[in-house]
Amino acid sequence: VTVLFHLGEMATATESLDEATFEILGEELGYKIEIVSPEDEDRELLEAFDIDLEGEEAAETEENLEPRPPVVTVMGHVDHGKTRLLDAIRRANVQGGEAGGITQHIGAYQVWGEHEGVNRAITFLDTPGHEAFTAMRARGAVVTDVAILVVAADDGIMPQTIEALNHAKAAGVPIVVAVNKIDAEGANPDKVRAQLTEYELIAEEYGGDTMFVNVSAKTGEGVRDVIDAVLLTADAELELTANPNKLARGTAIEAKLDKGRGSVATVLIQAGTLRVGDSIVAGTAYGRVRAMLDENGEHVEEALPSRPVQVQGLSSVPRAGDTFLVTEDDRTARQIAEKREAAERNAQLAKARKRMSLEDFTRA
Ligand code: GDP
Ligand code: MG
Repeated sequence: VTVLFHLGEMATATESLDEATFEILGEELGYKIEIVSPEDEDRELLEAFDIDLEGEEAAETEENLEPRPPVVTVMGHVDHGKTRLLDAIRRANVQGGEAGGITQHIGAYQVWGEHEGVNRAITFLDTPGHEAFTAMRARGAVVTDVAILVVAADDGIMPQTIEALNHAKAAGVPIVVAVNKIDAEGANPDKVRAQLTEYELIAEEYGGDTMFVNVSAKTGEGVRDVIDAVLLTADAELELTANPNKLARGTAIEAKLDKGRGSVATVLIQAGTLRVGDSIVAGTAYGRVRAMLDENGEHVEEALPSRPVQVQGLSSVPRAGDTFLVTEDDRTARQIAEKREAAERNAQLAKARKRMSLEDFTRA
């Protein structure tokens, strides 16, 4: 406090300071200050358990890596048809005779489609609107490989269209534009193409490199073309691979507390293979995978990269965007979760203390 005072900075002993002030303070007092972000802190925590995710990633060789399906998010202005398009895509995928199966909402699902003679999977994050995307990105999790930007042809671009495309661009995620509602009266798909050129989304037919697809989620026209465009864009712009032969890790997409089943969390596997019985930690939740369900409510024993599954058996409900990882044993998972919990508690206490000291200050 004295040194800060001499530097012309009034502070109390319980007050938080910004990073620059800390560095100056360190210099004055002869200490070298190292600023540790929450991410760094978590990395160090994991390293204490001999887990080095980045190092592991960097050490992957071509022989270890196998292709994985693209993970796709649907974004766009409200009422432009995101939900209906997701439904149409799901329906396009249901094979004749198999319809009627219970499809439960787990926040993500995979569809299989033939593309250039090869049967390929695509994972859709079924959380329409970009709130989920934004929330996850704010927590450092970019799980999406390709974004489908839905624009209604009878309405044209709208504020949330621009917001959505800016989010995708900021995250470096390639965009496929689904020009929807081409069946509707007053639909003008070319106008949408023209409007989006202003935002550097230039259709291939205009000499650009963004795929635009005319579609009607209502009649089903063009739905297959949307799926094709996603696969073409993924193949052209991305190298989608992961090592399936290691302990699983990934991100929680959504989670809730179920009366009968306890914590149920939909997780997206991003590397490795998740198996029933694995010890797992997701944010501050931990436990053993008691059961895994797919989007059809079917039990699955193991899940490969890009596969979304609903996991039962966690001690509490993780947040969307929390990363998860499988550990060697239960104890490790629990200890990591507890250490994180303690770190969060400390951070909250520090914040509360700061608020209190500010109140004292204004009261005085
Ligand atoms: P969201 O808010 O983007 O999820 O939009 P919805 O999927 O809920 O669709 C909003 C409205 O537009 C609903 O009444 C849909 O039935 C309608 N809609 C969606 N797609 C189409 C389409 O291709 N053609 C027509 N005519 N209506 C559509
Ligand atoms: Mg919707």
